[in-house]
Amino acid sequence: MSIANNLNQIRKQLPENVTLVAVSKTKPVSDLMQAYEAGQRIFGENKIQEMTEKWEQMPKDIQWHMIGHVQSNKVKYMAPYVALIHGVDSWKLLVEINKQAAKNNRVISCLLQMHIATEETKFGLYEEELHEILHHPELEKLTNVCIQGLMGMATFTEEEAKLKSEFRYLNELFIKYKTIQKSNLDFQTLSMGMSGDYQIAISCGSNMVRIGSSIFGFRS
Ligand SMILES: *Cc1c(COP(=O)(O)O)cnc(C)c1O
Repeated sequence: MSIANNLNQIRKQLPENVTLVAVSKTKPVSDLMQAYEAGQRIFGENKIQEMTEKWEQMPKDIQWHMIGHVQSNKVKYMAPYVALIHGVDSWKLLVEINKQAAKNNRVISCLLQMHIATEETKFGLYEEELHEILHHPELEKLTNVCIQGLMGMATFTEEEAKLKSEFRYLNELFIKYKTIQKSNLDFQTLSMGMSGDYQIAISCGSNMVRIGSSIFGFRS
């Protein structure tokens, strides 16, 4: 199957309200261009340097999403162009993104990454920390960021019941915290679901899926 075929197969299954992020990490620009030529305009990468190299080489109507863990000292490299940062998991990082966005005269959209898996290794916030960030007395001073919603990664398992309970939990948090009114909060995106679990994620309320290997093939 070609990349364009894979992409079209997946698109056919996605409800209209669900945005597809094509996760192209480790893949060469030639592969990304095949997806681009098939109409894909949103790409997800997990390393800032790799994403920046691809951004430099590729058409400028692409929206680049940072889906990986972000180190504060590297935010400056993507601040000029990044469209959405999925993996924001601390107040400190949010402050740094705001600072770099201001330097570039931009407002950068962010998602807060929640810890929903049972695995220790997955990054993310617990509800208490989410609550703290969204009620931080200085949040509205961060006028160069816009918090657009939540992101999460489920446990790596084929156990459907477990995936469902983790995705449902994230959806509950999304609905609960959506009601907070602040100038730089605009909860509209719930980013959950990858190649192995996106259908379940969508059934649990996801409206943004991050799909890599089902489009581009396995990564070595
Ligand atoms: C790699 C990655 C994906 C895509 O994974 P696939 O299983 O290849 O679809 C999605 N989200 C994040 C955060 C990733 O790092």
